[in-house]
Amino acid sequence: MNHLSDRINKLSTSQTLAMAALARELKAQGKDIISLSLGEPDFNTPDFIKEAAKKAIDENYSTYSPVDGYVELKEAICRKFKRDNNLDYTPANIVVSTGAKQSLYNVAQVMLNEGDEVILPAPYWVSYYEIIKMSGGIPVEVPTSVESDFKITPEQLEKAITPKTKMIWYSSPCNPSGSVYSREELTALAKVLEKYPNIFVVADEIYEHINFSGTFCSVASIPGMFDRTVTVNGVAKAFAMTGWRIGYIGAPEFIAKACTKMQGQVTSGANSIAQRATITAVDADPSVLNDMVAAFKGRRDLVVGLIKDIPGLKLNVPEGAFYVFPDVSSYFGKTLRGTEIKNADDFSMYLLAEANVATVTGDAFGNPNCIRFSYATSEELLTEALRRIKEALA
Ligand code: PMP
Ligand code: GLU
Repeated sequence: MNHLSDRINKLSTSQTLAMAALARELKAQGKDIISLSLGEPDFNTPDFIKEAAKKAIDENYSTYSPVDGYVELKEAICRKFKRDNNLDYTPANIVVSTGAKQSLYNVAQVMLNEGDEVILPAPYWVSYYEIIKMSGGIPVEVPTSVESDFKITPEQLEKAITPKTKMIWYSSPCNPSGSVYSREELTALAKVLEKYPNIFVVADEIYEHINFSGTFCSVASIPGMFDRTVTVNGVAKAFAMTGWRIGYIGAPEFIAKACTKMQGQVTSGANSIAQRATITAVDADPSVLNDMVAAFKGRRDLVVGLIKDIPGLKLNVPEGAFYVFPDVSSYFGKTLRGTEIKNADDFSMYLLAEANVATVTGDAFGNPNCIRFSYATSEELLTEALRRIKEALA
């Protein structure tokens, strides 16, 4: 007998976290696994942020914070939104949460009714799909391919809209494709939405600073979009703070209030020490990240070069984040070393078994032709991983 709820029985396990756990387990068994599965920077949190956390401990920031975050942090986030994105939020628009993941979950919970549709340009970040489903929503995938740099067109967006459409969720720079929407592209998509004033947008900008394109546009800064956009961001990626668990939103006040109400019954305010440290992170000039971003760009160039050298893999040149998302479908139907490769899952598992390299199947991101590599690791390991992959596919 299954004692668990239908809710959890219907939920899929996070495939990024599952693959990372499998890679860890195999490593513990003594296998020489290179894990390109999990998306997390391999850098340390900058010292000035660590110092701020130590200071917060000494200053006894050890009690519950306000549910929506310390006011000093919310003010710092408003300054960041103005400085980087030209967005005029006030603290009443800001909610700080336990990672951007909770920010996204809050938004889904407070916005979606049973049967509401949410448009997901695919590939999308793995957890959007399940968070939406868990909140009663119906994910509506809009497929893209490597040929269109994994971006949707205004025509595709318009075609996906129905009377049930409540929201659109996307990330730029995109996890997993690395694609970055330009201001022109977002303006063209926003133009479609002019006709549908009740549709809201969730713009996940957590990779904002890991961007090699030289341009970045927050959709909320496009005329007409501010009052219908939830801008999601966090410190996990840019400041190498994945374990600190701080994310935040800038949103219309009624949404911010609802998220605070939701969070107040579930987790309360986010970790107090991490919040105090995040004040210094979001107040820092983004130029403090230059070295890290340059390192990611160097790795991007390295990995793209090495993948282009492997027959049968098709690739866009990712402009941001730290992932590559090659189309591997030319291998489907082939048998390699006695293993039949039917789909991206098989391909990813084949690489794990034969090359000792952990990746994530594109299926997890709504694109069954691709697999994702995270290149947030050293150039040495990346070079070795791609050498092994090339050999396993030869
Ligand atoms: N959005 C995207 C696109 C991500 O890649 C991640 C990474 N986990 C998150 C949200 C969640 O970030 P956090 O670690 O702050 O919960
Ligand atoms: N965002 C990262 C990834 O996509 C971290 C894992 C997760 O939170 O799912 O790999």
